Amino acid sequence: MAQYAVIGLGRFGTTLALQLVKMGHDVVGIDSDRRVIEMLSDSLTYTAIADVTDDHALRELNPIDYDAVIVAIGENMQASLICVVHLKNMGIENIWVKATTQAHHLILSRLGVSRIIHPEEEMGTRTAQALAYPMIREYMALGNRQYVVEVKVTAGLAGTALAELLECVKDDVFGILVKRREQLIPCPAAQFVIEANDTVVLAGNRTSLMKLAARFV
Ligand code: ATP
Repeated sequence: MAQYAVIGLGRFGTTLALQLVKMGHDVVGIDSDRRVIEMLSDSLTYTAIADVTDDHALRELNPIDYDAVIVAIGENMQASLICVVHLKNMGIENIWVKATTQAHHLILSRLGVSRIIHPEEEMGTRTAQALAYPMIREYMALGNRQYVVEVKVTAGLAGTALAELLECVKDDVFGILVKRREQLIPCPAAQFVIEANDTVVLAGNRTSLMKLAARFV
């Protein structure tokens, strides 16, 4: 079980904090708005009303004791940045921050935080991907235009050997795993025959994966 501090309990911060609690972690939620804190005080491990631009108020909450501190103040860029500077001055290393604008992102990257999150852009990208490529259920970007993707086998592809399926993208896309009902089949062999409703996890470059995706429609 890890311990997290979530600063700023708007929709993003609240969802994040509640999800972490659901996953079994300890979460302290911090916000300057009393009404927000009152609404969440029964759901989070610990809550505190504080203006995080106030160095002393922030120090009293001992953010150094947490595995990560997430600053989820979006609209008020000044408050977000001042809070990050205070956290940095306290020696906190694992700081994740929500950014709303490019200027916000730029300053945060100069401050050297662990991760900058753009929830709207990230969700927008995922939604566009889901609309354009509905056969791809999940994906993970590896960088350099390489991805791991999860696709469901349609009835039309049932009975196809993996090698035959990947023939058009040979040496560019690799089968990592097949999930068949409850069973996980790692590193399936080339002659492995896929069945309808199998979930196939593949890795490869974007162009080849997109070419292959058309076969899963
Ligand atoms: P979302 O889209 O997630 O709802 P938002 O960007 O619209 O977020 P913000 O206005 O950035 O929301 O505020 C998120 C929360 O941060 C609010 O509940 C607000 O009270 C809190 N907050 C803003 N400034 C401070 C501050 N200086 N100290 C503590 N909490 C703050």
